[in-house]
Amino acid sequence: MVTCFECKREFDVEDERDEYESYFNGELDYDEDCGGEPGEGLCAGCGIVRSEGLINQGRAIFMMNGDEDYDDDFAQKWL
Ligand SMILES: [Zn+2]
Repeated sequence: MVTCFECKREFDVEDERDEYESYFNGELDYDEDCGGEPGEGLCAGCGIVRSEGLINQGRAIFMMNGDEDYDDDFAQKWL
């Protein structure tokens, strides 16, 4: 078992990997994003929250740069 370093929940990596990767339709890699030292890592729930935050922050930066339609609420929330 592995302990999540965010919420301290114990989990089985196989289950969390499936949940995480199916949530992102296989576009993200659990081991790359949520892995850690042996015996620790992020559970799917915490990994999804963190990765979504990073993705949304990236989109907000694109908006600031004019590469994407600007949405003030969105930019305020994520930057
Ligand atoms: Zn967790």
